[in-house]
Amino acid sequence: MPATFVPGVAAPEPAEAAGSAAWCFVFVEGQLLLPADEGLPLAPLAPGLFVASTHARHFLGRLDGTDCWALALPEAPPGWRRAPLRAAMMGFGEPLMGLASRAAQVLEWDRAHRFCGACGTPTELMAGERARRCPACNHSAYPRLSPAMMALVWRRHGGHGQVLLARSPHYVPGVYSALAGFVEPGESLEECIHREVAEEVGVTVTSVRYYGSQSWPFPHSLMVAYTAEWTGGEIVKQEGEIEDAQWFALDALPKVPPRFSIAGHLIRDTVMAMGGPEPQSTASVVRA
Ligand SMILES: [Zn+2]
Repeated sequence: MPATFVPGVAAPEPAEAAGSAAWCFVFVEGQLLLPADEGLPLAPLAPGLFVASTHARHFLGRLDGTDCWALALPEAPPGWRRAPLRAAMMGFGEPLMGLASRAAQVLEWDRAHRFCGACGTPTELMAGERARRCPACNHSAYPRLSPAMMALVWRRHGGHGQVLLARSPHYVPGVYSALAGFVEPGESLEECIHREVAEEVGVTVTSVRYYGSQSWPFPHSLMVAYTAEWTGGEIVKQEGEIEDAQWFALDALPKVPPRFSIAGHLIRDTVMAMGGPEPQSTASVVRA
């Protein structure tokens, strides 16, 4: 049976929390702490270990009845090592991947909203709500989500399927992915797709179909993925954004992102649904 996560804000009493084992997603300067012994998985532990020196502590909810916490520490205690979040998440399956993503975003929101963005007064955590409020002017800051769309453009060309993949200059050499871009204020996701596809590669599309979405904590995106059918235009690369963009036959794809990211799922599922073979993965997409 899949694990059930019930989100919550109201923390249990500290004494109660310190006494029972809990999932703790502990971060030091944006990196997740994992057991120093690489053979040990992350497992529920008594949060009392971390409580004394913690400078940010947020209750996330319960996973199959076990409390889940996001904690920030100034440095890693003995027995723990720091791991980049992306690498740590790739080693987790669900539901830990989603919980680590949630914890990272809650801590980043908390870190970045210590002072009111309107008047500069120190903010206070609100009880029962994931929000920080300014006691001087009542301005409230909630965790920020930045929606970004992803589009895999496809076509039938001379009876054969093709997909349009592109490279950003910061990708590992040889890796291509679907097109992506942030949604602008006032724009629908569909409008964003037509605009981004036109800006990045100069083609027009139709039959925009929702594929799926993924929380992406780098630092606080919500990726919303679509497929879109090409209707016209030759590829014209956007200067500075797109290093290369090409049509690829389904059986001659370059390396693409792994299934860890929604880009990896979108490209694989679409190519295989069009009759192509499973594409090859790359271990990492972005240059270290
Ligand atoms: Zn204020």
